[in-house]
Amino acid sequence: MDVEEFRKRGKEMIDFVANYLDNIEDLKVFPQIEPGYLHKMIPTDAPKNPEDWNSIMNDVNNIIMPGITHWRHPHFYAYFPTVNSNTSLCGDILSGGIGCVGFSWETSPACTELEVMMMDWLAKMLKLPNEFLSESGIGGGVIYNSCGEATLVALFAARNKTIDEKCKENPKENQFIVMSKLVGYYSDQAHSTVERAGLLSMIKMRPVKSIKRKMRDSVLEEMIQEDIANGCYPFYCVATLGTTGSCAFDNLEEIGPICKKYNIWLHVDAAYAGSAMICPEYRHLLNGIEFAMSFVFNPHKWMLVNLDCCAVWFKDSRFVVDAFAVFPPYLGNQHENKYPDFRHWGIQFSRRFRSLKIWFVLRLYGVKGIQKYIRNHIELGHLFERLISRDDRFEIVEEVTMGLVCFRLKGKNENTNNLYKRIEADGRIYMITSVFCDTDIVYLRFIVCYQFATEDHIKFAYDTIIHITNEMNLCLGA
Ligand code: PLP
Repeated sequence: MDVEEFRKRGKEMIDFVANYLDNIEDLKVFPQIEPGYLHKMIPTDAPKNPEDWNSIMNDVNNIIMPGITHWRHPHFYAYFPTVNSNTSLCGDILSGGIGCVGFSWETSPACTELEVMMMDWLAKMLKLPNEFLSESGIGGGVIYNSCGEATLVALFAARNKTIDEKCKENPKENQFIVMSKLVGYYSDQAHSTVERAGLLSMIKMRPVKSIKRKMRDSVLEEMIQEDIANGCYPFYCVATLGTTGSCAFDNLEEIGPICKKYNIWLHVDAAYAGSAMICPEYRHLLNGIEFAMSFVFNPHKWMLVNLDCCAVWFKDSRFVVDAFAVFPPYLGNQHENKYPDFRHWGIQFSRRFRSLKIWFVLRLYGVKGIQKYIRNHIELGHLFERLISRDDRFEIVEEVTMGLVCFRLKGKNENTNNLYKRIEADGRIYMITSVFCDTDIVYLRFIVCYQFATEDHIKFAYDTIIHITNEMNLCLGA
C-alpha cells in the first residue's frame, strides 16, 4: 500500500469506525454466535496471492463484526471499563504511523522524554509523593502493557532488593537460598494476576484472608510473624485500591506501617479506581501511598486512553534497573544522559510510543474534563444502586464506592444465575456474574463503562433487568 492508497484507505477506515460507533446502539452487545463460528468461515491457510482491499473489508463485515462483544456499546456493563476515546485513538494512529521503538533515549528522544513528562503529569494529578516523580532523580514512572506486568516487575525488583540485603546480612546464604525463603502477601480479594506473579516467579505468595473484603493489618502481621518464626523472609505485599470483585479498598495507612516495620516492599494496585483519585473528594483513598515502593493504575481502564496503557511508578527505579539491565554489544555506544532507557525498566524491550495518546487525552479534555467524566460514572453507579434498591426482590451485596454495583436476586444462587443467563440471551445489555468465595454467594456486577453514559442509559438497563426478572418470575409461577 503506497502513501496515496494509504491516504484513501486510511480515511475509509476512519469512516468505517465512525459509522460503527454511530450505529453501535442498534447492535446486541454480546455476539449471537456459537464457539468455532469463525473457524468455519476462514481458510485454514494464508492466501498465496495478494487479495484486494474490498474483499478484506467484506470479510470484516461478514466474519469479524458478528463475533465482536461490543465494549464501546452504551449498554456494556461488564468487567471494568476499557474506556476508549476517539481522541486517544488519534494519538494512537500517530504513534503507529511514526512507528518508532522507544527502548532507549536515542531510538526516539521524543518518545522517552514525553513518557517521562506524561508520567510526571499523571503523578501530579494523583498527588503522588515527590519521590515518585522523575525530578527526584531515582524515582519515576513508566508505561507498561498491563497491571499484571507491573505486579510481576515490582515483585522481581523487591526480590532482588531482598536477596541483596539478606546475602549481605548473612554471607553464608546465596541468592538461591534466599529466594527459597521469600514470602509475599496479597489480599484474597486481589486480582488473579497477583497470584500469577507468584506462579511465574516461583516465589511463595500467600493470600491474606480479608475481613469485609479488605486486607487488615492484624491478619497480615500475624502471617508475617508466623513466616519469620519459620525462618522465611517476608519481602513483598500487594495492596489493592478498588478490587475487581467489588471495588473494595485496602487501607494503605493500616497496611503501610506493617510493611515498613518488616522492611516489606509495598506494591499498590489501583487498576480501575486509580483514575478517580485525580478528584479531590476521592484522593483520601490514596492516603498512605508514601509507604509504597511502587504504584500502578490503568489509564486504559478509566481515563479515556485506549488499550494498552498502564501507568506504573517506582520510588527507587534502581531496584528495577538492577533486576532488568543487560548491555548487549549490538546496541553500540549509548548516549549518557539523564533520561532513562526504558528497556531497563520492565519486561518489554521494544516499546510503542504510548505516551502520545496520554498527551492527546490530557490536553483535549484537561484535568477538569476527566474529573467530570469520572464523577458522572460514579453518580450513575449510585443512580443504578438507588433504582435496584427500590425493588425488594433484589439486594445490593457490597457498598457502592465507584461505578460498580454488586447486586443479586434474594434467595438461592440459582435465581441470580438464571437471571444472568436470560440477560445474556436477551442481548440488550451485558453484565457478568461473580461469586464471593467465602460465602459462595453469586452476584451480578453492573459497572458503568460507556464514555457518554447518561441517566437514560442507566434507566434503560434497569428497566431491561426488571422486565427480564418479571418474565422469569412468570415462568417460575412466582
Ligand atoms: N488489578 C485489578 C484490581 C484489576 O481489576 C485488574 C483487571 O481488571 C487487573 C489488576 C489486571 O489488569 P491488566 O489487565 O492491566 O493486567
